[in-house]
Amino acid sequence: KKAVRKAIIAGNWKMNKTRPEAKELLEAIKPLVANAEGKVEVIACVPFTNLETAINATAGSNVKIGAENVHFEKSGAFTGEISADMLVELGVEYVVIGHSERRQYFGETDETVNKRTKAALAAGLKPIVCVGELLWERECNITEEVIARQVKLDFFGVSAEDVKKSVIAYEPVWAIGTGKTATADQAEEVCAFIRATLAKIYDEATAEAVTIQYGGSMNAKNCAELLSKENVDGGLIGGASLKAADFNTIVQAAV
Ligand code: PGA
Repeated sequence: KKAVRKAIIAGNWKMNKTRPEAKELLEAIKPLVANAEGKVEVIACVPFTNLETAINATAGSNVKIGAENVHFEKSGAFTGEISADMLVELGVEYVVIGHSERRQYFGETDETVNKRTKAALAAGLKPIVCVGELLWERECNITEEVIARQVKLDFFGVSAEDVKKSVIAYEPVWAIGTGKTATADQAEEVCAFIRATLAKIYDEATAEAVTIQYGGSMNAKNCAELLSKENVDGGLIGGASLKAADFNTIVQAAV
């Protein structure tokens, strides 16, 4: 079953790296991950200011570039925002949407995540939509409720054809940047639940085609076990994506 899906390892650089630093890191990553071509999709999601540098640095390689956010309006009076068309024009292929840091610190809601997802897809960008429960929600045993709600709302009105172009990242909020990784069984349980939720909204075949990543303190040590799980098709990597060797170890675990 897993063979029908594309394995995707994506770095989420967050607010890190100046342009020269971005170039240096990508130059280091490129030769390491070249063997993954055709087997694993390798992506670096970088700050807006690094996009052009990153696209130039990775031209002709198998490393794809993503943005970390996108606004849902096409253009207009939205000071500080970046549209999907602006990203497409640069050569950006992917965009992270609804990361828990945006939900926590920047007022992102399932409604705006839904709008951004639709705007990205309409412009030809592939969204990496992040979902995940808070520690408090897990302790209250409502993880599945929270995840089902996010998947339903975030993809509301998105066609089956478009959801197949999307990536879903399961990122338990308590595991992000904390060094506390979900166990492989916990990750598998929720990723399988996300797939079951997609099967209910769409159908089995559609659900089977969607790449579902795990994210949250995935690193060179724990990646192999997480990625061995049936429904964990890849990873969204924060901290460990800032070191070429560690990021490559994770890519190789998915090859
Ligand atoms: P982390 O971040 O790997 O540093 O926990 C993951 C993410 O936020 O996507």
